[in-house]
Amino acid sequence: MITHSPDETFEYARKLGERLDRGAVILLSGDLGAGKTVFAKGIAAALEIDPADVTSPSFTLVNTYKGKKTLHHADLYRLDVVRSVDLGLDEMFDDRDAVTVVEWAERLNWAPPDAIRVTIEYVSESERKITVDIPKM
Ligand code: ADP
Ligand code: MG
Repeated sequence: MITHSPDETFEYARKLGERLDRGAVILLSGDLGAGKTVFAKGIAAALEIDPADVTSPSFTLVNTYKGKKTLHHADLYRLDVVRSVDLGLDEMFDDRDAVTVVEWAERLNWAPPDAIRVTIEYVSESERKITVDIPKM
């Protein structure tokens, strides 16, 4: 799937977000500026969380937002390899009442096998290639 603007990526993520069950985990991979945070904002919007509140957490690594469902949003950019246990991420993965979105998920040493993997690749200034891998249940 190719998107042609940040809005289109946001809308695509919002539609995916509407279909998510409680307890869903979304692992976002892609370079700096790929659009991972734009995607996380779209998911937030689907959960009735103000997307403007969802920023790349600069001091905290994980933020939790309350909407129609709870959203845990982690950004592992500043880390090298992350043991999910050290960040309390394993507890978030187990949180059946929340949706968890992880930016730079490739830095995790472990992730739930049923997580949805989203890769965003730079195509041009305004275009991104988005690949979504939803494991079969
Ligand atoms: P990341 O979190 O992956 O580092 P951000 O979501 O913070 O990236 O930033 C993505 C940047 O790319 C934004 O400045 C956004 O406006 C821009 N952009 C341009 N085209 C797109 C697109 N099709 N989808 C998403 N972002 C895009
Ligand atoms: Mg980001």
